Amino acid sequence: MAIWNLGSINIDMVYALPHMPEPGETLAATSFDQGLGGKGANMSVAAARAGAHACHIGAVGPQGTWTVDRLTEYGVDTRHIARIEAPTGHAIIAVDPAGENQIILFPGANRALTEAQVGQALSAANAGDILLLQNETNMQAEAARIGRQLGLRVAYAAAPFDSDAVQAVLPDLDLLFLNEIEAAQLEQATGTLPQNMGVKDVIVTLGAKGARHYDGQTGVVTDVPALKVVPVDTTGAGDTFTGYVLAALDRGMPMVQAMGLASRAGALMVTRHGAADVIPDLKEVQNAKF
Ligand code: ATP
Repeated sequence: MAIWNLGSINIDMVYALPHMPEPGETLAATSFDQGLGGKGANMSVAAARAGAHACHIGAVGPQGTWTVDRLTEYGVDTRHIARIEAPTGHAIIAVDPAGENQIILFPGANRALTEAQVGQALSAANAGDILLLQNETNMQAEAARIGRQLGLRVAYAAAPFDSDAVQAVLPDLDLLFLNEIEAAQLEQATGTLPQNMGVKDVIVTLGAKGARHYDGQTGVVTDVPALKVVPVDTTGAGDTFTGYVLAALDRGMPMVQAMGLASRAGALMVTRHGAADVIPDLKEVQNAKF
């Protein structure tokens, strides 16, 4: 089986600054670091490192070649990433000495996908494969519709939260991932609890408090506790959790067991700095002592 992930690929450019720049100020950074980012890329890497066949559907511009090479290196199938004449998605991340950050995000190529590209990629999918979507690309609703028609299990991580985007994909969803804040935002936008929206499986992640599964068919609610770790950087924990849950489901693991494995991966992630580049592989996750 496979996981088809329509997702963003970003170049994260991180600048350490003596303080945040004032309007009109020119400020020299004290250090610079560049890495692979984007929720989509993180989730593809997580799914691949968890042992799944992860096919990324996306787009990069001419400066994005290394991001595709890096995804390939991490085991992601990159055949369906288009090379287009648009700037590669990127984030300019300013960090001050207190660790506070400011981020300028330019979606670029991530929002230049076409329905034809998505349709062509998914024509290689098999019924029962998983299609994963988030909100850093365009074409989510079109992809969800195509995925549903092809008999794929459609999963969606509602991040960054966008009420219109969630509601556009809801009718075609099998699995919905939300963090605590997104769950509250969705309830506020619709007046309905996420677990009452007709989606088969709803997972709400709760950071250090773990994650909760709502079975839309039986109404059963199951809590999966988090592991006890000392967090240093929570970036990418949610993306890693999602990729791990789906990889486990893809090989037939029951939901609550899949979430248990994913919470081990999420716990390891919060003990490390960085995102896609530090996502643990399955062996590490299985062998970790907490
Ligand atoms: P982010 O946007 O920071 O990537 P998120 O808000 O989408 O994350 P979280 O709910 O913070 O997602 O984390 C996802 C999962 O990772 C949690 O359900 C939990 O299993 C694990 N996790 C997150 N934070 C911690 C923590 N401090 N200790 C242990 N496990 C954690």
